[in-house]
Amino acid sequence: MNDPLPPLRDVIARHDLAAKKSFGQHFLLDLNLTAKIASFAGDMANSQAIEIGPGPGGLTRAILGAGARHLTVVEKDARFLPALEEISAAWPGKVTVLEADGLTIDEATILSGENRVILSNLPYNVGTILLIKWLQAQPIWWRRAVLMFQREVADRVVARVGDKAYGRLAILTQSVCAAQLVMKIPAQAFTPPPKVESAVVMLDPLPDGTRFDDLKALGIVTASAFGQRRKTLRRSLGQAASQTTASTEELIAAAGLEPGARAETIDIAGFQALARAWRAARATQP
Ligand code: SAM
Repeated sequence: MNDPLPPLRDVIARHDLAAKKSFGQHFLLDLNLTAKIASFAGDMANSQAIEIGPGPGGLTRAILGAGARHLTVVEKDARFLPALEEISAAWPGKVTVLEADGLTIDEATILSGENRVILSNLPYNVGTILLIKWLQAQPIWWRRAVLMFQREVADRVVARVGDKAYGRLAILTQSVCAAQLVMKIPAQAFTPPPKVESAVVMLDPLPDGTRFDDLKALGIVTASAFGQRRKTLRRSLGQAASQTTASTEELIAAAGLEPGARAETIDIAGFQALARAWRAARATQP
């Protein structure tokens, strides 16, 4: 569908929307690029989409152009609301504009229906916090998330055991969804350019019954194990074990792991076993 709106640079100039560093603002003004990012959401004809941090609306326009049935945009910086309302007026009945903080909204009640997707060029300082919030949602209300992160964070989200970037974020994410890095975006694509490269990650929740839902326990054992990633489990898991009735050795044995192994060599199933052992030992605490 054609975008009926004026060029983004004109919108930014007319509404005086200079990027603010404190809100992590780097804008994508190339509508071909934003169209490519939106395309990773797949067919949105039956989708309720939500975009966090639309800014002047480059990705917003692409999501609408890609045919989303309805789009809710959530922006914390009120300066962007007039520009977003203009987009809403050009797409009657299709857009809800909310001035709100993405960290505190309850998306599951804002969006209805089965086919809900998240798209976001995330502010870098809140990107991983929002990701964890969406992973922890129970039940998982979204069918796909297409998220932009700084490249280094994207690498940590999609890393596999044995990769340098493998750690807590990969384990938490991939316990809930399949994660793929689908596009790298150079810093110069943004206005103003950030210091680092970015990347788009596509997340699809694993089928019901196969997701690991005790992310709290998984978060505790991975924080303990990777807090001292060069040490063996026998030495690094003390902190997690101290919150249970079990000794470090008992926890490791209950998970079927080797006490001499290091965190970076333990696969996701291994950490899930450790989280289960931690939870069981925790439950028996008086
Ligand atoms: N999506 C736009 C684009 O691609 O050009 C803007 C991206 S800019 C990196 C991040 C946007 O998120 C900014 O508009 C900023 O004001 C907004 N933002 C920052 N923190 C937010 C929060 N907690 N909730 C909602 N929006 C937020």
